[in-house]
Amino acid sequence: MDSNEFRHWSVKAAEWGVDYRAGLRDRPVRPKVEPGQVLNAIAASPPEAAEPMEAIFADFEATIVPGMTHWQHPRFFAYFPANAAPVSVVAEYLVSAMAAQCMLWQTSPAATELETRVVDWLRQALGLPTDFSGVIQDSASSATLAAVLTMRERTLDWQGNKSGLAGAPRLRIYCSEHVHTSIDRAIWVAGIGEENLVRIPTGGRYRAMSTQALDAAIAKDREQGFLPAGVIACVGGTSVGGTDDIATVVDVARRHGLYTHVDAAWAGSAMICPEFRHFWAGVDGADSIVFNPHKWLGAQFDCSIQFIRDPESLVRTLAIRPEFLKTQGREGITNYSEWSVPLGRRFRALKLWFLLRAHGLEGLRTMIRNHVSWSGKLADRLGREPDFEITSVPMLSLFSFRHAPAGVIDLDQHNLALVEAINRDGRIYLTQTRVDGRAVIRFQAGQFEATEADVDKAFEVITELARQK
Ligand code: PLP
Repeated sequence: MDSNEFRHWSVKAAEWGVDYRAGLRDRPVRPKVEPGQVLNAIAASPPEAAEPMEAIFADFEATIVPGMTHWQHPRFFAYFPANAAPVSVVAEYLVSAMAAQCMLWQTSPAATELETRVVDWLRQALGLPTDFSGVIQDSASSATLAAVLTMRERTLDWQGNKSGLAGAPRLRIYCSEHVHTSIDRAIWVAGIGEENLVRIPTGGRYRAMSTQALDAAIAKDREQGFLPAGVIACVGGTSVGGTDDIATVVDVARRHGLYTHVDAAWAGSAMICPEFRHFWAGVDGADSIVFNPHKWLGAQFDCSIQFIRDPESLVRTLAIRPEFLKTQGREGITNYSEWSVPLGRRFRALKLWFLLRAHGLEGLRTMIRNHVSWSGKLADRLGREPDFEITSVPMLSLFSFRHAPAGVIDLDQHNLALVEAINRDGRIYLTQTRVDGRAVIRFQAGQFEATEADVDKAFEVITELARQK
């Protein structure tokens, strides 16, 4: 591709993106394709001869786009959002054009220094104290893995990486039943073993882990010869927004000399609004915190911030320093690849810089406040409808409900069939979960372009399709 063609197709791609976004409301949120349909539409062998871009682009439109789930659709109410504000897409065009690998300060000084600056902007935006610094990870899963590895190394006096875990006392990590399964995976990958992830029972309005039970479990494990290493608390769990009492968790963990990691992957974005910070009161005492601006804030996927109180222990756990990665003659530089599991890293800070400047914190706060308010109103409306039951109270903009008409014997089946009917209809997109053993339907408002009318449409679709069941 020569420069003229590159210009032509770059402009075409950018224009396509603008038209795509503008037309999203007219598309079904979830595509109407069957498994294997896209696979079968793609040539089974790679082309030997070059093909014209016209043909490639036409196939993209004809084969790929109809098979996409539209995460930027304003009526995407499933999972958690993965918002990509248009301004962050523009930043990503620039990042793709430069295509820098930003593993070390010297492999792109501007990327490193902008990362330092925007992570600190976010620290201020979330109301965190100056003793936190941070890094942009590719995902909350990676950030939690880095935190678990740090817990492991601190507890084993930095011998785990060297000697392995064989022969060491069994480490223990504590969390509630509401943490994301990425925590389980971090425990597997760190070699700690799922049996050593101790689930503390939860209760109360936001299903917080019992801190008395946490305290007792740590003490009992010590008596029995285990090595307690850390606690993973959650703020805004994925299923129904489970939220721990962070201040008390931190207090218990500190008394036992344990590290606390807080997973606020989704809810963290809402902490730019001071009125929501009570949900993580006490977070100042945590050792690390993860939140994903790629979820609710609007920074195009992927963009996950890990705040850390003591980056030295993270670097001591993860840094690799072969000769070919050393930077000669520079003191005091930061090499962010020493703060994360992957060596190679994309330039993720640019989209945050563009986003924060183009919208300002006040613009982003308005969006989040609207989502929380619209979702609360929808929960009230659904709760007043005959045969609907709210099964978990709104935590920020997330709640769950169930349709429970008289005479239906298998309500789990009924609700799973309802969510499938809603998603097949295509006007909105929802997902299911289990609350207290029962199948329920989740709703979260969080899409960057959503309006109150989109949330009203959700009410219309849910009640209309429930009545047809
Ligand atoms: N933690 C919570 C609370 C989540 O909701 C999710 C994903 O939805 C994760 C962690 C994992 O996030 P990631 O995809 O960035 O690894």
